[in-house]
Amino acid sequence: MARVAEEVLSYCSSCRLDLRATVVAMKGDQIIKVQCKTCRGERLYKAPKGVTDPSKAPPPKTRAGRTASGEKADHSVGTEWRNAMNSHRSRPLQTYSAKLQVSIGDRIAHPTFGEGVVLKHIHPNKAEIIFEMDIKTLICGGPKTG
Ligand SMILES: [Zn+2]
Repeated sequence: MARVAEEVLSYCSSCRLDLRATVVAMKGDQIIKVQCKTCRGERLYKAPKGVTDPSKAPPPKTRAGRTASGEKADHSVGTEWRNAMNSHRSRPLQTYSAKLQVSIGDRIAHPTFGEGVVLKHIHPNKAEIIFEMDIKTLICGGPKTG
């Protein structure tokens, strides 16, 4: 049975997570008020909602510094873009223009989309370029001939 000053799991409406909290007030066997250990806010006790498992969730500060290598593989455009940028980092960065002749693997600096890597040619004058947010089909000067 819970007691004042004991640690319980409570849903924090401020953190929006099930978090450890210290019991502040009890009424009989009922927990009335708790203090969230994360935001230090005192609030009415709410039963855990199963939003997360705090014993398994990494603390926020270690999470931010972690590299992508330890996390499960995702196939988002951002990940593919990072891989493409890494494997073609020796290529010179060229500023995009509609007349720029590109080769697959060329790094392109676009004024709106940022830096990207040419994935393939689609038509004689278009190229598929991966940017951090999206893959774009852009007009270009066609494949390099030399
Ligand atoms: Zn909180």
